[in-house]
Formats: sequence, structure tokens, C-alpha cells
Amino acid sequence: MNSGVDFFFDSLFSTNVWVPDPEAVWVSAKLLKDYNLGDENVVLQISDGRVQYPVAPPSGLPPLANPDILEGENDLTALSFLHEPAVLHNLRVRFLDYSSIYTYCGIVLVALNPYDQLPIYGEEVIDAYSGQDMADMEPHIFSVAEEAYRTMTREEKNQSIIISGESGAGKTVSAKFTMRYFAVVGGAAQQTSVEERVLASNPIMESIGNAKTTRNDNSSRFGKYIEIGFGRKGDIIGANMRTYLLEKSRVVFQASQERNYHIFYQLCASRDLPEMRVLKLGGAETFRYTNQGGEDSMQIPGTDDVVDLERTRNAFTILGVPPDQQMELFRILAAVLHLGNVNIQASGRGGDRSYIDERSLSVFSKLLGVERTQMAHWLCHRRLTVGGEMLVKPMPGQQSLEARDALAKHVYGQLFTWTVTRLNSALRAQSEKPKSFIGVLDIYGFETFERNSFEQFCINYANEKLQQQFNRHVFQLEQEEYVREELPWSRIEFSDNQPCIALIEGQLGLLDLLDEECRMPKGSEESWARKLYDQHQSNNPSPHFRKPRMSNTAFIILHFADMVQYECDGFLDKNRDTVFEEPINILRASQVSPLVSELFQQKPVGGSLSLSEGKSSLPNGSLRSGPGMRAQREHKLTVGFQFRQSLQLLMDTLNSTTPHYIRCIKPNDLKEPFMFDPKRAVQQLRACGVLETIRISAAGYPSRWTYAEFFSRYRVLLRGGGVQTQEQIQASCQRALPELIPDPEQYCFGKTKVFFRAGQVALLERLRAER
Ligand code: ATP
Ligand code: MG
Repeated sequence: MNSGVDFFFDSLFSTNVWVPDPEAVWVSAKLLKDYNLGDENVVLQISDGRVQYPVAPPSGLPPLANPDILEGENDLTALSFLHEPAVLHNLRVRFLDYSSIYTYCGIVLVALNPYDQLPIYGEEVIDAYSGQDMADMEPHIFSVAEEAYRTMTREEKNQSIIISGESGAGKTVSAKFTMRYFAVVGGAAQQTSVEERVLASNPIMESIGNAKTTRNDNSSRFGKYIEIGFGRKGDIIGANMRTYLLEKSRVVFQASQERNYHIFYQLCASRDLPEMRVLKLGGAETFRYTNQGGEDSMQIPGTDDVVDLERTRNAFTILGVPPDQQMELFRILAAVLHLGNVNIQASGRGGDRSYIDERSLSVFSKLLGVERTQMAHWLCHRRLTVGGEMLVKPMPGQQSLEARDALAKHVYGQLFTWTVTRLNSALRAQSEKPKSFIGVLDIYGFETFERNSFEQFCINYANEKLQQQFNRHVFQLEQEEYVREELPWSRIEFSDNQPCIALIEGQLGLLDLLDEECRMPKGSEESWARKLYDQHQSNNPSPHFRKPRMSNTAFIILHFADMVQYECDGFLDKNRDTVFEEPINILRASQVSPLVSELFQQKPVGGSLSLSEGKSSLPNGSLRSGPGMRAQREHKLTVGFQFRQSLQLLMDTLNSTTPHYIRCIKPNDLKEPFMFDPKRAVQQLRACGVLETIRISAAGYPSRWTYAEFFSRYRVLLRGGGVQTQEQIQASCQRALPELIPDPEQYCFGKTKVFFRAGQVALLERLRAER
């Protein structure tokens, strides 16, 4: 055996390492010598006593464990060995042994959902964090909020807090804690109502945008970026929000065990209140749009829909929406429920016509103040332009049902948009223009299901963009630190995911080709898929694109986080977001409800995108509506197109701010307090880019100490004698290190700090222990 390798192993004798395990993902093991094995004389002994395979030196060496002093370290990037098992172990130790749900990973705060009420969010904790330096405090959502607040006031620069994670991981809870933090520290001396109004926007948005899903009883079905504006004195003076991709399909369809938006159940549960009688509501089990998830899942444990409606109404009142306008909103929502109960049956020879059941329709029409007969007519007929001539044609039953559902989704989407606009005008700063803002982004994380469709495609595209923003920011910060410390130029490698983004949004990219297909009268998913294969597999192969072997109507994208197969089925319809124009014209002519006509006067922003007014509004000029199906008109903006635009705008905003990142992790699927499922955790750490951050860190100089810190820890190795001054300390470090670490590539002297490559601190620790 090569003596170098022998020596190498001698130095590692009895070292702790990590070995893969199917259940625990990684288990701890020790490297031991076994002289019976001859040449391959190193074995692994796993902590439970099992002896495993011989190790092939040195490349087959498993990941080394970190020295004990780093156990429970509150910043993952301070670990000497930076790899997946180290990250996982450290998070688990902190979570299970210390009930610490927060850990830094460089500039990222990793937050594990405790599924337990922790006494760490009180006003006294806010006071404790207020005014403190992040480095001096235990990791906490408040330390991030404080850091953002302080940076904003110090540098007069806009900030943003970017929160991501999968469904149920705790994004919305985290976003609300940051908002509460700002409301407390940015509250004016004499209580004004601005903070109260900003906070009151939450229950409203949750009522109309959150729903029970199998993963989360209060799942946000839209993305949100809220900018909280601060005045000269650092007090909150207003806010503005933008929303992204509301899941409108939920309005007409819910999977088993799931619910529609909370507001519908709140209204049904409160139907016996005197003022609610006019809505003619029954229990939620009586409406098709609220009962598809099954009756036993209609009640959410621990919540009371009647109480929640009360809260929603109070919040509206705080935001200056008067009770009569609230009632108008409720009328429209109730009308949507009645619309869902309008039975449309096939009639005529071969079912080519539809027949309408009038009862629910007449409640619907009364509530909205529209002509019932006209409505009935336009739910069963459509207008077509053939050769420049207008024709009215009966629709088959199935098409009429689709038209009904499309109308319901459209009404709800408009209502959602209207509410956002309304809240924004109530939150607009009155007295002065905000000096700067802190934006809080609560947006769906990367997701992959058994079957992935347009929604997952958009969500994962958004995450791909956010990941790029993140990578570039981390990379830039590293470079800046190196320049500040005057290190010799050293390239940190990092993988930019631009090629994957270009595949989606670039010229002839997936979205481009999808829009093109949507514009074709005979466009189809098969033909779109074919064009994708031609372009990205044959003509100009992309390393991020694949055609699945067994399907001609699916494609695979290799995202930064994972490989995802998308089924093309439904992409065209969802991208067009077809809605028939005639029923909408009728609503626009509503006689009783100014709100109804207002909703549809609004030039439709279209799609399931709900963009608020203000900076984010799209050029509306091309959206003039006319007769016929809007989806067939030339200039209709597709959902994909708008999403791309709104994402770009979001990126521009984020790039003009100082970003702060929070990655929420759902540690188990059972909603169990303090239970850590390593498989689930690892999956999310990969998907949210924490492990990628670790990789970026590991590629540069992950460990850095000021000379003084270094000196005080490793004095025994430095033969420093009587050194005292900064210069002497620095000189002593510079003299000693070349002897301790023979490879000069492994460390670097900066102006105020000494930098180490991965693994070197562990080496120094060993040397220190031997003294
Ligand atoms: P979605 O993407 O579905 O909207 P989300 O990431 O916004 O999910 P939340 O609604 O914030 O998830 O959290 C889900 C649930 O987890 C909460 O209702 C709450 O019960 C629990 N939870 C999250 N964070 C915390 C926390 N810090 N302390 C206690 N419980 C929490
Ligand atoms: Mg949420």
C-alpha cells in the first residue's frame, strides 16, 4: 500500500464520517483499521455497531464529520466540512436538542416549521431584537427583520425579504411575523392606524386567497409581494401589494379533502345572520362549488368560519371598506355559489344544445341585478364570427358547463383583483411619500407532484428566476468581500441557471412556442409538444430539456432543484384562460350593483393573474374587449405572457433592493410538533437552494476569522509569546500558518481576516487537540 495513503488514513484513524442510509439519509460512522483485510485495511463502523464495507482510499472516502466545537453551530456556512450530511445533522441537532427552529446559512435564514406554539414571538422578544446587530443575536425571524429595518434606515435603501418553501412550510406565518415586527418598531409614538391597516390586509387576503388543501389547512393559493413604506422617521406610513397567479380553478373544482376559498365557507356558515339572509345561502354542503372535497373535510379543526367572517368584516372596516360595500362583495360571492348550482343539461338531438335549470339562475340574476333570460341564453349559446359574419350558435351541454365555470372563475378573479386594488388605495401613504420600503415576498416554492401541469410549470419557472437572483446575489457578495479584504483574485465557481431560464422564457422557448400554439386556430397540445421536441431536443438541444421516452405529450425540465415531468394536457386552455364575452357584457350592465358593473368595466387584466394597480399594471390598451371569445382575439395577453412580465418586474424590483432570504422547511408531513423527517428535510434543502449555497461557499473560502479571533482560538499553535498589538497578532498568524497547513492554496490572508478553504478548520482543530 502506498505509504502516503497509509499516512493519510493514519491521520484519519478513528475519524467520524457520514455514510448514506436509505432511511436516515445519512448515518454517523467511524473509520477504523482492520489488519485482517490486508491492503484494504480500513473499514467503517456505523454508530449502531454494524461494520461496513472497506473504504477505497482516498477518493472513496465518505464525507467527514465536523469537529465537536462546531456542533449546533448557528451558521451552517461556519461548518468546516460543508456538505449535505453536515447541514442535515446540524439542523436536526438544533431542532431536536435545543428546539431552535432558526439557523443561518450564510445570508439565508433557514426556518423549520415547529408545528407548535413557541413563546418566542412576544413583544418582549421584538424589543430584545430591536436595535441589535444580527451577528450578536441568535438566529430568528426578527433578527432578519431587524437587519432589513436597520439597513434601510442606515443606507436609505429599499430592502426585501424573500420567503420561500413548499406548501405548509411556514411562509405566510413568517411573513406575518416580519410584518408585525415592522408594525411594532415602525409604529409611530402615538398609535396611528396605518400599522393596524397594514396588518388588517392579512385576514382579508387569507379569506379570499387561502384554502384548505391536503398539505396545509390555510394554504395561500396566490403569491404576494407587499411593500411596506416608511417615512423619514422610520415609521410605517403606507403599503402596497402585488399578487401573482391566483389559483382560479379552485373556485369551480376542489380535490377530495380540499376546500374552496375560505370566504365561501365563512358566508355559508353565517347565513342565518339577519343581514345575510338576502344571499339565500344554504350550508356549504349544498353548493357544487364548495362540496366537492367531501362533507367530512368541510370543517377545519381549530377554526370557526362564523368567527372568521367576523374577523374578515372587521378587517374590511379597518381598511375603510364600508359595510354596504362589503355586502356587495358578499352578494357577488354568493352569486358565484348559486351560479355553480345552475344545472345545464344536454338537450336536442345528439345533445348539441343545452337546457338550463332556472332556479339557481334566478337567484344568481337577482343577486347581481342582471336579466335572467339573457343570462340563460348566453350560457347556452355562443357568438361566432365566420367569414366576417356574426352567427349565434347553440352550445352542447358540456361546453355550456365549461362556459358557466369559466364565468365563475372570471368573476372571482375580477373580485380578487378589485379587492387588492381597493386595499392598496386604503393603504396608500397619505401625508408624505415613503422614503423607502421593505418588501416581503411570500411566494410558492418549487413543487413537483405525480402529475405536473401548467400551474407547476409557472411556479417552478418563478423559482428558477428567484434562484438565479439569489445565486447572483450570493456570488456578488462573496466577490465584494474578497475585494474588500484585498484577496488575490480568485474565481468562485457558481452554476448560473440562465440556460434553464432561457429554455422557458427565451426566444422560441417554451412560453413563446406555447403562445404561438394558442394563437393557431387548430393549435393542439400534441403539436406544441412536437415543436418543443423539434426545437429543444433536435435543432438546438438544451441540456435542460428532455422528451420522456414513453410519451408524446409530456416534456421534462431539468430544474436547478429537480427534474420535473410536465404533462402538456391543459396547457393551451390554461394559458388562453378562455372566457366568453357575452355573459360578461350582461354583468357589466348590472342595474342594482355598482360594484358588479365596476368589476367588469375594469379592463380585464385577464388570465388568472391578478396584478394590482400602480407600478405593476400592465399596458392595458391592447385588452379592449369586444364580442366573441376573448381568447380568439389577436391581442389577448396569455397567462404565460403576463406571468413572464410580472416576474420580470418583480426581479427588477428585487434587484433594486437589498435582499434578505428566508427558507422555510416543513420537517414532516404529519403536522407533528418537533418531528424531523430527514428524507423530507433533505429534499427541501436541495429544492430551496440551501445546499447550493453551501456548494458556493465550499467552492470559495467558507471559513473566515478575524486575526484576533483566530489568534485567541489557536494561540497554542502559534508560539506567539508576548504578542499584543493587532500587527503582532497578524504577523504571528502569517508566520505560523505555512507550517501548520503545507498547501498554500488552502488559506489566504486578507486585510482584517484570514480565510480558509473547506476542511481546514477541522484540521486546525485536530492539531490543537493534539497539543
Ligand atoms: P402555503 O404555500 O400552502 O401557503 P405556507 O408556507 O404559507 O404554505 P403557513 O400557512 O405559513 O405555510 O404554515 C402552515 C402551518 O404551519 C401554520 O398554519 C401553522 O400551524 C404552522 N406554522 C408555521 N410556522 C409556524 C411557526 N413559526 N410557529 C408555529 N407554527 C407554525
Ligand atoms: Mg402561505
